[in-house]
Amino acid sequence: IGREPVHVPSLVDEVLDLEEESAKGRGVQFVRDLCEEGGVALGDREKLKQVTINIVVNAIEAMKQGGTLTVRVRPEGERVVMTLEDTGPGIDPDVLSNVFDPFFTTKEAGTGLGLSIVRKIVDQHGGEVHIESERGKGAKVTVSIPMGR
Ligand code: ADP
Ligand code: MG
Repeated sequence: IGREPVHVPSLVDEVLDLEEESAKGRGVQFVRDLCEEGGVALGDREKLKQVTINIVVNAIEAMKQGGTLTVRVRPEGERVVMTLEDTGPGIDPDVLSNVFDPFFTTKEAGTGLGLSIVRKIVDQHGGEVHIESERGKGAKVTVSIPMGR
């Protein structure tokens, strides 16, 4: 994978711009809280874009009655941390541990590959990804990637 400095707030802005129209059409609003400072990760821009897209698309798909996706980026120690928090239905506790498994899906036409690709790319960057959820209170995905400088 590429190893160059990637300004994560700009990348996230780009992805949200791309998805915003279709999201609005589905009653989903984006809130951006992107800290510009200290947001440079070391890695592959296209792959990190894929990570962001996969998580954003899941959030939009989950919020069938509309809702809000709040995306935050900030530096934390030697890492750039991104959180994506939605107001959808959340994830059942009994399937939460399976969502990163390849081909695991709860959707009729899902591939179940989105989050397994996220995990693979984050691993390739030496980063971490977690998902937490309270039933009825949405899902929150946290991705952290080592800084580029
Ligand atoms: P797919 O989207 O094709 O189902 P993913 O790997 O992207 O595959 O996601 C796996 C599963 O994780 C989804 O089918 C869904 O059950 C759950 N999931 C992921 N993100 C969310 C979310 N934001 N809210 C609720 N469930 C989610
Ligand atoms: Mg998906």
